[in-house]
Amino acid sequence: MSRPKYVASCSGGKDSVATLLLAAQYNEPLDEAVFSEVMFDHALSGEVPEHRDFIYDRLKPYCENQLGIKFTVLRTDKTYDDVFHHIIVRGPNKGQKRGFVWPGMCAVNRDCKVPPIRKYNAALSPDTISYVGIASDEPQRLARLEGTNKVSLLDKYGYTEDDALKLCAEHGLLSPIYDHCRRNGCWFCPNASDAELRHMLEKHPDLFDRLLDWGIVLIVVRVILPGQLPIGLLDLLVAGVGAHPKDAVRIVHLSLLHIFCFFSCW
Ligand code: SF4
Repeated sequence: MSRPKYVASCSGGKDSVATLLLAAQYNEPLDEAVFSEVMFDHALSGEVPEHRDFIYDRLKPYCENQLGIKFTVLRTDKTYDDVFHHIIVRGPNKGQKRGFVWPGMCAVNRDCKVPPIRKYNAALSPDTISYVGIASDEPQRLARLEGTNKVSLLDKYGYTEDDALKLCAEHGLLSPIYDHCRRNGCWFCPNASDAELRHMLEKHPDLFDRLLDWGIVLIVVRVILPGQLPIGLLDLLVAGVGAHPKDAVRIVHLSLLHIFCFFSCW
C-alpha cells in the first residue's frame, strides 16, 4: 500500500526551514516543500530582496541537492501592482482605486499569497499530510492543528522558536532577514516593524521609491480630481486616528515615512 504524500509549506522563515531540517534529521517522510511568492509587479518580487536571494540561491538548491526533496515556488498572476490599482466596484468607495494595503486586512495576502496555495492544496489527495512550521512554544497555534491533517515537527521534537533559529543557523540556513528583524514578509508590508521599514529605507531606497511614486500619483489625483479620491496616504493617516492603537502607530509611521520620502525627493 502506498503511503500518503507529505508536503511542507515553507516561507523560508526559521520555523519552516527548521521543519525541513528536522524531517531530514529524524527520517520523517517529506516529498515536497512549497513556497508562495508574492510579486510586486510581473518583474519584481515582493519578498525582501535578501530573503528572495536566500530562497533561490541557498534554500531551494539545498532542498533539491542535499535533502533530495522537490522545492516548488507558487505564484499567481495577480501582483501588488494589480491590487493597488484595482478599481473598487462595490460599497462606499466604489469607483476609487484601492491603493495601499492596510494592516490587519491585507488584500495582497487575500489576492496574491493565499490563492495559489489554495489551488495547490485543492489538487492534493485528501490524505496528504502537511508539515507546518509551528514551534512547541506556540500553544494557541498548535491547538488549531487538532483534527486536521497538519503536523508540527517542531512540536513533535520539542523545538521552540529559539531552537528553530539555532538549528537553521547551525546549518547555514538562516535567512539574512534575521539580521534586522524577527519575521519575514513582503517589503511593502503594512505590518512591517520599524526595523523592517528602516532596513528598506536604508538598503533598498529604490524599492521604497516605487511606493513613493504610487503615493505621489495618489496625492496628485486627490488634488487635481477631488471627485475621484483614491484611498491613499492621507487616508492612511486619517485611518490611523480611529484604528487600534498598535495598528495606528504602524499606519501613522508608514504614512509619515512615505510623506517624509515625498518631501525628501522634492
Ligand atoms: S507579508 Fe504583509 S503585505 Fe505581504 S501578504 Fe502578508 S500581510 Fe500582506
